[in-house]
Amino acid sequence: MSGAYDPNNIFTKIIAGELPSHKVYEDDVCISIMDIMPESKGHILVIPKQGSRNLLDVDPHVLSDVMERVQKLAVATKHAMNADGILLRQSSEEVAGQTVYHLHFHIIPCYVGQKRGSHVSNSSSNDELAAQAELIKAAM
Ligand code: AMP
Repeated sequence: MSGAYDPNNIFTKIIAGELPSHKVYEDDVCISIMDIMPESKGHILVIPKQGSRNLLDVDPHVLSDVMERVQKLAVATKHAMNADGILLRQSSEEVAGQTVYHLHFHIIPCYVGQKRGSHVSNSSSNDELAAQAELIKAAM
């Protein structure tokens, strides 16, 4: 089932500073934060500030601006985490795995010989996430 964008979502609150996050990057276009249920070490999210539900309704100009940031953040994350590759993922609608209905991109570092964790089922300590955020910030 799909629907209209609802601004009352967790990422809008994080963007507004009403909820805490481990922030990696912020500018006028987007924010990037550590995913609190990471599928691998250094899993981050890139979240446009302008609200849209997902890829299917985002303004193409916003999308284009965000993708520039996604690439920069992917390069920085691979470098900072000493990863072997990056998985970029965006889920649109529940059937595709979307659980938060404000557009975001997952940047998931991949490591040779390491299986990634499953979606929204892992946990990481605040200290680990804070340390990883600092490393990625430093690599930007
Ligand atoms: P998706 O399921 O593709 O919509 O992705 C949503 C992602 O947001 C999941 O990977 C969650 O682990 C992550 N997430 C949910 N709440 C938070 C939060 N408060 N801070 C950081 N990441 C979150």
